[in-house]
Formats: sequence, C-alpha cells, structure tokens
Amino acid sequence: MLGYPGANSVGYTGKLLNKLMDSLVDNISFPVFPDGNASVARLLVRKLVPAVAPNTSGASSNAMESILTDRFDYSQLDRSDAPVRIRLNSTAVNVKNIDDGVEVSYVQNGKPYKVQARHSILACYNGLISHLCPELPEAQKENLKYGVKVPLVMTSVLIRSGASVHASGPVQYQCPGSYFSVVTKAPPVSLGDYRDGSRGDNPLVLVMLHAPAPRNNGQQNARDLYRLGRHKLYTTTFETYEKEVKDQLTAMFGGNGFDAEQDIEAITVNRWSHGYSYEYNSLFDPEWEEGQAPHELGRAAIGRISIANSDSEAQAYLHSAIDAAARAVNEIIG
Ligand SMILES: Cc1cc2nc3c(=O)[nH]c(=O)nc-3n(C[C@H](O)[C@H](O)[C@H](O)COP(=O)(O)OP(=O)(O)OC[C@H]3O[C@@H](n4cnc5c(N)ncnc54)[C@H](O)[C@@H]3O)c2cc1C
Repeated sequence: MLGYPGANSVGYTGKLLNKLMDSLVDNISFPVFPDGNASVARLLVRKLVPAVAPNTSGASSNAMESILTDRFDYSQLDRSDAPVRIRLNSTAVNVKNIDDGVEVSYVQNGKPYKVQARHSILACYNGLISHLCPELPEAQKENLKYGVKVPLVMTSVLIRSGASVHASGPVQYQCPGSYFSVVTKAPPVSLGDYRDGSRGDNPLVLVMLHAPAPRNNGQQNARDLYRLGRHKLYTTTFETYEKEVKDQLTAMFGGNGFDAEQDIEAITVNRWSHGYSYEYNSLFDPEWEEGQAPHELGRAAIGRISIANSDSEAQAYLHSAIDAAARAVNEIIG
C-alpha cells in the first residue's frame, strides 16, 4: 500500500501497483502535520489560550490550516488575568492531597515553588508518578512502575535533492535487520500557507527509525530489552548515527546516484529515551482479567489527584492520551 520495494520485485504488476500508489500519494491531502504531534499540542494551547495567536483565534473553520504558520506569543501563556494559565519549564517534584485540595511543589530555574488547587491531574509518565506522589499505596506504585517506556531514535535527514530517492520508486522502506528498520519520505504535506516543496530535484527530508533495543538472549522480557535499549541510546554517539545513516542510504540509493558526502545537508537525531508507552506483549505478559491489568489498577485516583497519560491506557498513541484525559476530567467533574 505504501509502495514497498517488494512490490517492484514481483514484476510488471507490482511495478504498476507501486506507480499507481505513488500517484495516489501525490494526490492525498495528508491528515498529518509536518512536525507531528507538536501541532496537536499547539492546537490545544491555542484553544485554551486564544491570545497566544490573536490573528487566528476563534477562526474555527481554518484552525488546523493556520497552525503551522501561526507565530505564538509565549508571553500570553501564563497571565494572572487569564482563565487558563500554562507554566512552562516547571518540573513537578511533589504532589499531595491537603484539606479540600492538592498542593503541588515544582522547580523552575532551580528554584522551588508551591501551588494549591482544588484538583490535580498527573499527566506525565506512570513510572515517575510513584516518586512524585509518595502517599500512593505501595501496590499502586508497583502497578504504575510495571510498564517500561519504549526507546526510539527518529532521525531526520535533509538531502539536497530527492531525485535519487524518487527514482527508486517506493515511499517507505521496511528494512528488517538494518540499523534503521524503517526509512520513509516525509509526507508531502501542504496545509494553509505551508506548502510542500519536496518533488523532483528539490530537497527532501527522509525519516529513519531505529529501535535501540538489543536482541533477546532468551532470558529477557520486553521490558528488560527496553531498559537496555535506553542505555544504548544514551551511550551511542552522534558519529555512530551519522555513519549508519550514510552507510544505509548509500546502500539503498547509491545505485541511483546518491552520494552521502555531497547530498546530505543536515542530520537531526531525536533520541526518545522514553518514547512509546508500554503495550502488553503476549510473549511476556499474562492475560489479566478486565480491570486487573497494571495500568488499570495503577491509574486509580487518590483523593483529589487523578492520573491521565497514554501509559494509563497501555497504548502508545495520541488518542489514548486524549481518552485518558477525558477519563481523568470525568473523575473530577463526576
Ligand atoms: C517519536 C514518537 C513518534 C510518535 N508518533 C505518533 C504518531 O504518529 N501517532 C500517534 O498517535 N502517536 C504517536 N506517538 C505517541 C504520542 O506522542 C503519545 O501517545 C502522546 O504524546 C502521549 O501523550 P501523554 O500526554 O501521555 O504524554 P506526553 O505527550 O509525553 O506528555 C507528558 C508531558 O509531561 C511532562 N512531564 C513529565 N514529567 C513532568 C514533571 N515532573 N513535571 C512537569 N511536567 C512533566 C513532559 O515534559 C511531557 O510534556 C509518538 C511518540 C513518539 C515518542
């Protein structure tokens, strides 16, 4: 469906299919943002604090279209006269129930602060919550710690001309056994004033996905491998990623004229030590009765403190975080 190289190898029909898919892809209006979920976060912020982008606030019909080019005025995020305040660079370090409310301690620029509220929703990582909230029962802490975030390395490679990649045909490559297991052209998104310019000889961004978890030695479960993968992610140097990018792209596109030394303009390595939420794996995890899985037991509200995040759904996707947020808000408003 995505124009995989395997289709090319099954002869005329496969090549025709790939061509067809390629032209379809050309005409698809992509339901994705070029900067991924960052735009979703910006849409939420703009809805909550319309003053951050005064020219577009309230323009519901073109809300999505303008989000890529909207310039945010960060000074509007945390104003005492606004009904919603968003405080950046503030790391919560302790959350506790107090009489008729919750007290949150946080650190900003190395200084400790406290705020009080009627309720609080912890929307960070499950693994952290037991440290933030010592009053949780021990059994609940253990359940919160069960899942281990999946480490991922998402590498963006800007090449000066996409010609050698386009000449190869496919849009996305699955490369099992290679350092980067997925290599894909960045989707050619055009949205509002933001226009894709990646056709023909124009520059192109390739996205290369590396999963740093090692092979199982027969003794480990998925959670062990993710922890080991995180360590590997931290100890791998940029030079290693750079070399692997060059070697793999040369192997894939060198035959069409790709020259890593000449053609690569920039490489950005995003190391997600705590990437995807843990999803149960039937090879290693038992089948819990409904309501008895660690994420279900772990997310119970305690007093006026609720828990919401994709970990609390044991699902690694944005919609899970939204489902969790809706659940946590309903716990509060009843
Ligand atoms: C590389 C990558 C690609 C992805 N691609 C997709 C995709 O294509 N589609 C999709 O649906 N999902 C995708 N996801 C998953 C999606 O991003 C997550 O499911 C979603 O962001 C989870 O939302 P969340 O609110 O649970 O956690 P997060 O978005 O991780 O938010 C948690 C927030 O809590 C903050 N925080 C943590 N600790 C503290 C503290 N002590 N004090 C204050 N703040 C704190 C963090 O800084 C962070 O901002 C991707 C994830 C990754 C890593």
